[in-house]
Amino acid sequence: MFEALSEQLEAAWKKLRGQDKLTASNIQEPLKVVRRALIDADVSVQVVREFIQGVETRAVGKEVISGVRPDQQFIKVVYDELVQVMGTEQVPLITAPQSPSIILMAGLQGTGKTTAAAKLALYLKKQDKKPLLVATDIYRPAAIDQLQTLGRQIGVPVFALGTDVNPVTIAQQGVAHAQSEGCDWVIVDTAGRLQIDQAMMGELAQIKTTIQPQEVLLVVDAMTGQEAANLTRTFHEQIGITGAILTKLDGDARGGAALSVRQISGQPIKFIGTGEKVEALQPFYPERMASRILGMGDVLTLVEKAQETVDLADAERLQEKILRAQFDFSDFVQQLRLLKNMGSLGGFMKLIPGMNQIKPEQIQQAEKQLKRAEAMINSMTTRERQQPDILASHPSRRRRIAKGSGHTEAEVTKLVQDFQQMRTMMQRMSMGGLPGMGDAPNL
Ligand code: GDP
Repeated sequence: MFEALSEQLEAAWKKLRGQDKLTASNIQEPLKVVRRALIDADVSVQVVREFIQGVETRAVGKEVISGVRPDQQFIKVVYDELVQVMGTEQVPLITAPQSPSIILMAGLQGTGKTTAAAKLALYLKKQDKKPLLVATDIYRPAAIDQLQTLGRQIGVPVFALGTDVNPVTIAQQGVAHAQSEGCDWVIVDTAGRLQIDQAMMGELAQIKTTIQPQEVLLVVDAMTGQEAANLTRTFHEQIGITGAILTKLDGDARGGAALSVRQISGQPIKFIGTGEKVEALQPFYPERMASRILGMGDVLTLVEKAQETVDLADAERLQEKILRAQFDFSDFVQQLRLLKNMGSLGGFMKLIPGMNQIKPEQIQQAEKQLKRAEAMINSMTTRERQQPDILASHPSRRRRIAKGSGHTEAEVTKLVQDFQQMRTMMQRMSMGGLPGMGDAPNL
């Protein structure tokens, strides 16, 4: 199983215990593990070769950070290279200087092209845009019906002229229709074939020349694995693509096609399809895909952010305080600041395995609560911060804090109680977990 990559790497490093530097020779064994893993993840062989060279260059000479195992550090190098190759950032759709912006869909039959066209239309509609779908697959009447059905389902108009008109003309008239109807996006669905076929490519090229789209999006079925590389090469050489949509990532596909597509065309993956439903479209994020390819959740990013932000000496001091139940409000504020350095609370929570299902409302709620806690703590004296227990025994102090921070006394009392509870819990948990990252109180 792919999930075992980290274990395999760990095993590879065990043989090299005590090495404190990544060198050309000691990374050979781990590189082989990565190579195999990428091939298993359906990355094309040629792309793997180039990728491994990239990792080698990046890794050799790296000092192993103290407190981090060499295999972990190596995995981080692989991950960084993956993210870089896949483009680092999420790339939005290109818009035309003047409406409508045009998207030409390209790809083989059965990849999910028509579905993706409808998904994109819905995605744009949800952003208050006015899209128009255009059906040019005159070779399969069922394809036109399918687009019309999807269009009705999502409430987006579909422009079609039946099966007797030339696809180039349909596309051209579709764009003109969008202009006259005041649509700001046109999505042109095109005919696919089971295999690459010169007539199909010629027609696609002609449509492209005629309507001059901002985007030519190649729809790639992630399940096709190794084939994705050839497909991308041919379409990019013959038509020129501006990006890709990777479909069927809800299945077993490992996402290796993402790496192949990007490496071969140099063009970004813009969206991923994650199901048959029209809502199942998401923008593509290189970091998430890198984690998927490595089969490790977003936990890597978490480790990275923690490394960047947590000062080790501070963490040890804190650990000590937690163990002795001396963690106080000043430490809590410091932790809050750390959390802020890591970006938004929501972004941070999403990185924790199992927490990615958390709803935006819940995150907003938690962020609000933390802000309120911070305001109350700001109204405390130094002594109160250092000795939260005196707050428990002095209602007059709690009243003063409530007044000073614009909260009720009950809210301050609750903060103190929750804090005491959290401190006990942290003390119990302090033997495990990442240093310096205590739970926020459930205020
Ligand atoms: P086209 O021939 O390229 O236009 O492909 P279709 O849009 O007709 O899709 C082919 C099949 O793949 C249909 O059964 C779709 O429901 C299915 N499909 C499309 N996108 C996805 C996806 O992201 N996930 C899954 N599981 N199925 C998909």
